[in-house]
Amino acid sequence: MTVRMADMAWPEYEKRIKAGAVVILPVGSIEQHSYHLPLGVDRYLPALVAERAAEELGAIVAEPVLYGARSQMRMGGGQTYPGTTSLSPVTLMHVIRDVLTAFIAHGAKKIVVCNGHYENMMFTFEGIDMALKDAKMLGVDDVRVMRFEYWDYMTRETIDALFPDGYPGMELEHAALIETSLMLHFRPDLVDMSKLPNESAGDFPAYDIFPATREGVPPSGALSPPNRARAEYGARIAGDCVKGIVADIRKVFGA
Ligand SMILES: [Zn+2]
Repeated sequence: MTVRMADMAWPEYEKRIKAGAVVILPVGSIEQHSYHLPLGVDRYLPALVAERAAEELGAIVAEPVLYGARSQMRMGGGQTYPGTTSLSPVTLMHVIRDVLTAFIAHGAKKIVVCNGHYENMMFTFEGIDMALKDAKMLGVDDVRVMRFEYWDYMTRETIDALFPDGYPGMELEHAALIETSLMLHFRPDLVDMSKLPNESAGDFPAYDIFPATREGVPPSGALSPPNRARAEYGARIAGDCVKGIVADIRKVFGA
C-alpha cells in the first residue's frame, strides 16, 4: 500500500483522509550540494524520511514543495551557483498556504510540515499561520499542524559518535557528512564519491554582504568536508529521524 498521495487515486485518498490519516508535506529546495551530490538533496531527504515514518503511521506523504527559500551563503553557499533555483519568500509562503488550504478543504485535520532546507524554516511558520487563518475564516477550527526540521531528530548519541571532534552545527553541514551519508543510505545511485571535494570548512564572518559573493564558501559549495560520510552513518541518522518523528506524531495527534 503506497503512502504517496501522488500515487493514489482520489477515492483512496478520500477514504484515508476520512479515516483520520495524517498528511505530511515535505518542503525542500533545488540547490547546489557540492560536486558529489545532486541539486535535489533537500527535496529528496525530507520526503524519504517522511515516507519511512508514514509507513509506520499509515500516514499520507504529499508531493514535496520542490523549490525553497533563497540559499544563504552561510547556510547553503548562496544563490551564485548554477542550478540553485529558489522562490521569493512571499511566493514560498503562499505555496505552503495554498497547499495546506487544499488539504484542509479535503478534510485533513492532522497535518505535518517536514522541512529539509534550512532557509525555509521561518517561511513554513508563516505559510502554516496563513492557512490556519484561512481555515478559521471558513469556519474550520479543528485542524492542527505540526512542523519540524527532520535533522533535529538526530540523537545526541549519534551526533557524538559521528562528530568526535565536535559538531559544526546543521547550518555548516550543507552537502557535508550528514547529507552525504543520508544520500548514500537512501539514494546511492545519485552520489558520486569520486567527486568528493578536497577542501576545508567554510569560514564566515558574523555578517552578510550584499550583493552576495562566494567569499568564505569553499569552492565546491560544501560548507564542511563530507569525506568521512558512509552509508552506515546515513542508516543510523535515518533511523533516529524516523523513530523520533513517528513517536512525536503519535504524541501530537494520537495517530
Ligand atoms: Zn541540503
